[in-house]
Amino acid sequence: MEKIVEKKTKMKWVAKLLGVLLMWVIAFVGYKVWYKHVEERIRYENMIEVTNDCIRAGDWKCAEKKVRELLKSVPNDTNLQMHMAGILFEQGRYKECISYIETLNFKHADLDYLVEKSNLLEQELAQLGVEKSMHFRLEFDGGPSKKDVMEALAVLEVAYDSISNLFDFLPENKMCLVLYQDKEFQGVGPRPDWVGAVFDGKLRVPVNMMVYREVYRPVLFHELTHAFVRAMTRANVPCWMNEGIAQVIDASHSGEERPSGAYPSIESLKKSFVKEKNTEQATKLYWYSRRMVEELLWRDGGGPAAFRKFAKCLQDLGALGMDGALKKYYDMTAQDLLESVR
Ligand SMILES: [Zn+2]
Repeated sequence: MEKIVEKKTKMKWVAKLLGVLLMWVIAFVGYKVWYKHVEERIRYENMIEVTNDCIRAGDWKCAEKKVRELLKSVPNDTNLQMHMAGILFEQGRYKECISYIETLNFKHADLDYLVEKSNLLEQELAQLGVEKSMHFRLEFDGGPSKKDVMEALAVLEVAYDSISNLFDFLPENKMCLVLYQDKEFQGVGPRPDWVGAVFDGKLRVPVNMMVYREVYRPVLFHELTHAFVRAMTRANVPCWMNEGIAQVIDASHSGEERPSGAYPSIESLKKSFVKEKNTEQATKLYWYSRRMVEELLWRDGGGPAAFRKFAKCLQDLGALGMDGALKKYYDMTAQDLLESVR
């Protein structure tokens, strides 16, 4: 009798122990599953962040790789599919873009636009008899003539090669070039002081400015330099470095006299000059930025090696920041540099 009671108590204990053990196992497995889920979620969110970063920087090769990876885990995500179509378009892969959109089982105004625009661009290239460019993805606005397009492209391809050589840098992605017909540049009357080529992520060039031979070369070199700077780093480039190097390369302002008055602050040299309403102040900012970059290049002899070092400095801006990168390559801060040219 006593033995049976003892046995029962023992069994109760074993059952209790097993129960506790089971609870632990369940909790552990649950935790693992939850942890894996969180881990995957974080990985997914990180990947989206990197993808957005590539898209913002216009790095379409990187963006395509990332979106394809994301689509593997969520193949029916319409937002990702729309991005994929846009990324193919941005790379000038118009036929691929159209056939990709045909495989999608939803409609969207943006997709219709991409199909329409892809067809139009293919057509325009064929009509103009312009081969697809090696380094530029072309868009047209306002029906420029074949002669203007060919001339702009010829200058730009030469400029591309020389800047690429100078920086020893070959951009991963094609640059988007919008050639447009601007009413202000009809080729009659005196040459305009200001020529409307800009780089805002796309290189926008009014093709009829080609008649002003003496202005279009520096303008194209200038804007193309900005396009290279953007291709070299995703960091926010201080305005003085960007405008400085663009002016050195376009060579149109060298030898200009120092503007009178107080010298600008590093803070004002860092932010965008476009926002500067006062022309005198803007001229001053441009002058000092050119001189500061010239100074850096001259310290290294002003030859190809000097430009390559400057390019490396730009590429390290993201990791080191302005003064960190300047310290590493030139052993000085921006303030030191400004003081050495004032
Ligand atoms: Zn500029």
